[in-house]
Amino acid sequence: MKIYDVTAPIHSDMPVYKNKPEKKPSIKTDTNGHVTESRISIDLHTGTHVDAPLHMFNEGETIETIDIKQLVRPVKVFDLTDAEENISYDDIKDLDIEENDFVIFKTKNSWDEGFNFEFIYVAADAAKHLAEKKIAGVAIDALGIERAQEGHPTHRTLMGNGVIIMEGLRLKDIEPGQYFMVAAPLNIQKTDASPARVLLFDEMIG
Ligand SMILES: [Zn+2]
Repeated sequence: MKIYDVTAPIHSDMPVYKNKPEKKPSIKTDTNGHVTESRISIDLHTGTHVDAPLHMFNEGETIETIDIKQLVRPVKVFDLTDAEENISYDDIKDLDIEENDFVIFKTKNSWDEGFNFEFIYVAADAAKHLAEKKIAGVAIDALGIERAQEGHPTHRTLMGNGVIIMEGLRLKDIEPGQYFMVAAPLNIQKTDASPARVLLFDEMIG
């Protein structure tokens, strides 16, 4: 069995949304004799992470309410590396996407080393299609699942229909196909997101 780690490394100079300095993680390490301890201050939407509905809805559900069974499960990785600007309805309408699927979109974003202000995102019409299909979740290799859409219709359509959103995967080395995923956000209570370790296995487990 092969394990693919599709998690972005976390460090103080990692790419962050719009390169905002306040979004860079701050890691402080103290050593006292032979004892070293570190502290980290981090935006919860840093690197590879899972969003919770609270991110877009004031009364929305928080990260610990997401059923872990929906994050540890089979997934489908789709090749959307030809998509320009965004992933539209036309780009995904013929894909094998079924009810309760967890889909992962691999795009050109996976080759970006720094933050790309023109990152490929999921357009509102594609989000509507995914919600109508009643999928369980969608993941993308950008730090956001959308940009440049007034009112955040992609986030709101997906979250409003119970679709889990995961952002910031690194998929350069992942061939399209079916995998078993273990996505484990930290069990931080009552927040709008959490960084996650995300692993893909080339065999089904359990
Ligand atoms: Zn996010």
